[in-house]
Amino acid sequence: MSFDTLGLSADLLRAVSEQGYTEPTPIQRQAIPVILSGKDVMAGAQTGTGKTAGFTLPLLQRLNENSGLNGRRPVRALVLTPTRELAAQVGASVETYGRHLALRSAVIFGGVKINPQIEKLRRGVDILVATPGRLLDHASQKTVDLSQIEILVLDEADRMLDMGFIHDIRKVLALLPKNGARQNLLFSATFSNEIRQLADRLLNAPELIEVARRNTTAELIDQLVHPVDKSRKREMLSHMIGSRNWRQVLVFTRTKHGANRLAQQLEKDGLRAAAIHGNKSQGARTRALAEFKSGDVRVLVATDIAARGLDIDQLPHVVNYELPNVPEDYVHRIGRTGRAGNEGEAISLVCVDELKLLSDIERLLKRKIPKEVIEGYEPDPSIRAEPIQRGGKSQGRPQGRQKARSRKSNPSSARNTARGNGNTKQKRAAGGETGSDSKPPRKRVRRHTGEAQASSQHRRSRSASAREKPALLGGNSSED
Ligand code: AMP
Repeated sequence: MSFDTLGLSADLLRAVSEQGYTEPTPIQRQAIPVILSGKDVMAGAQTGTGKTAGFTLPLLQRLNENSGLNGRRPVRALVLTPTRELAAQVGASVETYGRHLALRSAVIFGGVKINPQIEKLRRGVDILVATPGRLLDHASQKTVDLSQIEILVLDEADRMLDMGFIHDIRKVLALLPKNGARQNLLFSATFSNEIRQLADRLLNAPELIEVARRNTTAELIDQLVHPVDKSRKREMLSHMIGSRNWRQVLVFTRTKHGANRLAQQLEKDGLRAAAIHGNKSQGARTRALAEFKSGDVRVLVATDIAARGLDIDQLPHVVNYELPNVPEDYVHRIGRTGRAGNEGEAISLVCVDELKLLSDIERLLKRKIPKEVIEGYEPDPSIRAEPIQRGGKSQGRPQGRQKARSRKSNPSSARNTARGNGNTKQKRAAGGETGSDSKPPRKRVRRHTGEAQASSQHRRSRSASAREKPALLGGNSSED
């Protein structure tokens, strides 16, 4: 099936073919005609499925068809995203697919100066891609008017809720024309009860569209585990990158500190590497990503939260230098490769401490991941599992604007949260990226099997993750 049959205009088809796309992906096939018809949509699709073009192309077409420009240029479409990186990527897609149209777009997110954004908004923008926090800053300064929105897109809605943005989303909705006067599109990788509640409030008789989840399309991704001692992981990684001549590899660590250290060590090994995580400035993150995409940086070392939503075309290799504490994060990580029909390779370097994490992941995937010991890097059988180090020191500002505000105005609420009153999802999101400046003392666990030790540690880690929530939230997940 080709793009021609979907009802898109010649200008959009030209932009699509200039991108080299020959066939629409399943989400595009299903979503484009429905969105063009003006209906609300609730779509289950993860990054990597082509969902961005799935909503951007029909959105551009609809705005273009009704562009009765009479001097003023109100914002007519709003795309809300959870992270700055995703906002930048969606913004780039809007530019790319809309290159032959006269529509204007802008991307606004926090962590950068607000004045250039104000200036751009003042000159007139048709499509605005924004993270909720900075958008509300603009709304409160009256530098953006959302009263003429015709199309609203919530992209990666589940992540927005995970990151504590529900209150911000509600505030944004209150600034839009009343429901019924606009088209609403909700994209989410998962349909939790919270997402359904949001959808019930937001969507009018939506068309439900669901495409295969990435963990069912994993056959495009070759997954492999290399058992190796923890102390030899770095050496093995450098060896693999060099000997296999990998030109572009995304490497995951559990902590920000670990990401920095690994990037520095790889540089010493002569591999151009950069780290990307929540403590880096927006400028540094954007630069690292751009250098990685252009091939100047060969290895990008990332934490889970920093990597959310990253879209790097045809990324061939993902390496789990350390397995994530939360099995679902493994699926998100390996989803960075094998995108939109391309083949990819996801390799995990697993030491004895991580065996329980590995079995949790295999349980989620409902399959064993093949294991291969690399010659010269055979694990030392005498090494016993040790608890996985976790940090707990806050390194930045709290997650989600609502929490930041409520803590400021109500110190006792911060104490309550500190006792772990937040919701489980937020804990999970926060647990993905631990600050590791303050490490708990390492001690040997006296058990007989590594598996049992790891299991006990894993249970402890999870409850530690819950207890540490406020500290972990610090500066890690707030991408607004
Ligand atoms: P997304 O899920 O929107 O993040 O898109 C994932 C990747 O798929 C992006 O790199 C797109 O450029 C690419 N892509 C989107 N649509 C197509 C298509 N129809 N054919 C090939 N690649 C595509």
